[in-house]
Parts: sequence; C-alpha cells; structure tokens
Amino acid sequence: MLSPHVQRELTRIFGEDDVLTSPISCEAYAYDSSPFFAQPEAVVLADSTEEIGQLMELATRHGIVVIARGAGTNLSGGCVPTHGGIVVAMSRMDRILEIDPVNETAWVEPGVTNMALQEAVAAHGYMFAPDPASLKVATIGGNVAECAGGMRGVKFGVTRDHLLALEVVMSDGEVVMLGEGGKYLPGIDVTGLFCGSEGTFGIITKIKVKLTPLAEAVRTMMAVFDSLDKAGDTVSAIIAKGIIPTTLEIMDQVLVRAVDDFLQLGLPREAEAILLIEVDGFAVEVDRQCETIVAICTRLGATRVSRANSEEERKNLWLARRSGNGALGRIKAAYMVQDVTVPRYKLPGMLRLVADIASKYGIVIAQMAHAGDGNLHPHLLYDPYDPDEKQRVEEAAKEIFHAALEEGGTLTGEHGIGIEKLDYMPWAFSQDDLEFMLLVKRALDPQMLLNRGKVLSFAMEES
Ligand SMILES: Cc1cc2nc3c(=O)[nH]c(=O)nc-3n(C[C@H](O)[C@H](O)[C@H](O)COP(=O)(O)OP(=O)(O)OC[C@H]3O[C@@H](n4cnc5c(N)ncnc54)[C@H](O)[C@@H]3O)c2cc1C
Repeated sequence: MLSPHVQRELTRIFGEDDVLTSPISCEAYAYDSSPFFAQPEAVVLADSTEEIGQLMELATRHGIVVIARGAGTNLSGGCVPTHGGIVVAMSRMDRILEIDPVNETAWVEPGVTNMALQEAVAAHGYMFAPDPASLKVATIGGNVAECAGGMRGVKFGVTRDHLLALEVVMSDGEVVMLGEGGKYLPGIDVTGLFCGSEGTFGIITKIKVKLTPLAEAVRTMMAVFDSLDKAGDTVSAIIAKGIIPTTLEIMDQVLVRAVDDFLQLGLPREAEAILLIEVDGFAVEVDRQCETIVAICTRLGATRVSRANSEEERKNLWLARRSGNGALGRIKAAYMVQDVTVPRYKLPGMLRLVADIASKYGIVIAQMAHAGDGNLHPHLLYDPYDPDEKQRVEEAAKEIFHAALEEGGTLTGEHGIGIEKLDYMPWAFSQDDLEFMLLVKRALDPQMLLNRGKVLSFAMEES
C-alpha cells in the first residue's frame, strides 16, 4: 500500500484521473497474456516523458518498484507486478512523431501499436520488418523491450536489427537519448542493450526505427504434408538451396483443424503438417524462387503445393496462421505457449520430440513454428480446473526446455524470460553471462526498482 504522501505526489504528477488505486481498477493491470497474476499498488496513465521522469525520481526517493506496461500481450509474465509497486501504462503515448522516407526511419512513441506503424509507413512504400502475430495490439515499446520477432524474422531478423535510437527514462528519473547519431553507429551498441531487457534497465519513451522498402512482388504458397518429418526436412532443404523466404511457417494437424473449425477456410484437414511460405522481391526473381520451392516440396513428399492466386487468398492463409492462438481455445480453456529455438537443421527432430512428449504426458500439444528460424511455439493445452493435467503440462514444458537446450538451442526466441523462465536461466546461461547481466542491472538500476524480479530473479539481484 502506497503512503498517502506518495499517492498525493502521483496525483500532482499525473492528475487525479490518471492515477488508479482502487483494487478493481488495478486488477485490470494485474495480468498479461501469461498465466501469472499479481495486483499492483497503483497504476498511472502516462502522457509524457516528463511525467515518467518525475515518477522515477519519486520511486527512487521512496524505493518503489515500477513496471512499464504496453499492451500486456507478452507471454512470459513480463508486466505482472509480482513485487507490487506502480504500473506505468504507456498506451496513451501513441503518436507517430516522424516518418522520414529519405532516410528510411521513423520516430514513434512507445504506445504506438505495431499495426498502426505498419499502416502509416505502408503509405510511403515501407514496412517495419518485425511483425509479431500480436501486431494489432502489441506496442512498439513492448516490441523493443521484448526484442520481438515475427513471421518475417527468417529474412529480416528481430526488433534489435531495426532499432536505431531510444529516449529512455533511467531509474533515477534522468532522461537519456541513446544512439541518435545515425544509421550505422560505430562503438558500443548501448541502444541494443535495452532491446530485450524487458523493462528492467529503463523506461523507453521514444523510439527511432529503421524502415524497410515494401517489395515489388510477393508470392505465397501452402505445401501440404502427410508427416511432420517431411515438412521439417523441407524447411532446411529450401534454405540450403540459397532461398531465404520472407516467411516460412509450419502448422501441425491439431492447429490446422482448430483454425479450420473456427474460420471454415477450407484448410487441408487431412494434413499432418502444412508449410506456409512467402517470398518477396522483384517479380522475375520471386517467380523463379517459387518454381524452385515447389520442386523441393514435391521432391520431399508434399502431397500438394498451392499458390495464393489473389490478395484475398493470401490474406486468408495468413489469417489462418495468425488465428491459431485464439482457435485453440475451442479445444481447451488454457494453454502454455513455449518459444524454444533449435538450430534449423534440428527442427524436424525437435518437432517429433515435442509430439512424443505430448503422447508421453497424455496431453494435447498444438505445434506452430517460425520454422525458417528454428523457433518452435508448441502450445500445451490444458484445463485450468484440472490440477493433474496442469501438472502434466508443466512437466512436459520442462522436458521441452531441456531438450531444446540439449540440442544447442535457447529458452526463448522472442517471448522473453519474464517470470516464466526465471528458473531455467542457470540452465541456459553460463555463470559469467548471468553475472555480467547482474553487473549491468546494478549499474543502471542500483535499487532494483525497474520491473523487479523479471529476467533475473530477485534473490540473485539481492545477493
Ligand atoms: C496471440 C499472441 C501472438 C504473439 N505473437 C508473437 C510473435 O509472433 N512474435 C513475438 O515476438 N511475440 C509475440 N507475442 C508476444 C508479445 O505480443 C510481444 O512480446 C510484444 O512485443 C509485447 O508487446 P506489448 O506492448 O504487449 O508489451 P507488454 O506485454 O505490455 O510488455 C512486455 C514487456 O515490455 C516491458 N515494456 C513495455 N513497454 C515498455 C516501455 N515503454 N519501456 C520499457 N519496458 C517496456 C514490460 O515491462 C514487459 O516486461 C504474441 C503474443 C500473443 C498474445
């Protein structure tokens, strides 16, 4: 419970209407898209960098934890206030400040949604390459803080690869501008340090991103397979041929059927797996790539390869992929989504292993993957009111983490550590890595006020 003095100060900084303290209004900020839940002591609705600067000065004086929140779509508990404190909602800071087509850059406030930025820059012939499936609601601030990826990651990388400069409010309230000098800054990449730090190093208040020209031509294909193995092998074969598709996604039968039940798109329900493949570039180049891809898919056992013949057909294929998470709600009320990565050539083995783990624990796992990146998103479905099933899902999740690390992969490709993967950090990182992370955290946030207990456990932070 915040002291009356702190509450008065919050009202002075933000105005009475923009400070929420009643349990019922705070409850809306107690969760994100993970299964975790914890009530904040207050929520402030920020409109400016100045307000956040004053908030952090106040927090530092009184030792209060502060958690930045974008749209709350992260899947790892990143903005759940497990140590109490004040949630600062960034969604009102949603202005696109500048689009500079000559220099292929844009300045935005952190609360701009990924989709709003995509639409605004498309009018100038550009895109913002990171495109998380949550793009309609996820904010650019959240994308930077999580180093979000997306379906175009196989060709264009993740948010870090498209980040140029940041304005950040530090834990003591100081406002710093990082990386403003230009497109290819020499020296230490301090901007990159904040990308993926999940709100633990500072609160991001302005962001300069790199824009990517929209391609002249796009071709989208669906390849249908009667086995997960064949689909997985095809992914490596396409890339080995020197083709880097814009997107290369896999969906298994559980997912295909769930989406088809939901949207009735006429998806191939008999398929064990489908690949959604998109290439972009100059028309002549993409047509040649398409022919090669069709030949590879056919050689490796695709029962059918079809091309989207119209923009509507293309949109429907991506609608199918982007609707996966929601459609799974028709099978079970809850799921735990994982985000492990493995080296691309190990993808077929890992897909099979996940399927075996589902059988071993008697649970349903729907598999989707940014296959071109070796980034798997197994969705472990369960009934939240069935403690036994929940327990089996947790055990299965642990086994998947373990297997991915054994295969030389990582705990997370794009969903962050949050609180979900805290316990696994010592499995995934060396002691040197962890100590270095702590060193940076302590230097930037000596009182451990910013998003306490995320990425690094608070026990570690205190030690
Ligand atoms: C259906 C669905 C599909 C998804 N698909 C993808 C996908 O394809 N790729 C992918 O990468 N992710 C995906 N995600 C995860 C999520 O959408 C991303 O992590 C996204 O970047 C989070 O943005 P947000 O605005 O919701 O941030 P939030 O969830 O609000 O916050 C995420 C983290 O960032 C911190 N933060 C937020 N704003 C700031 C700020 N201004 N300054 C400092 N820290 C801040 C928070 O403290 C928290 O730790 C998906 C999620 C869902 C629900």
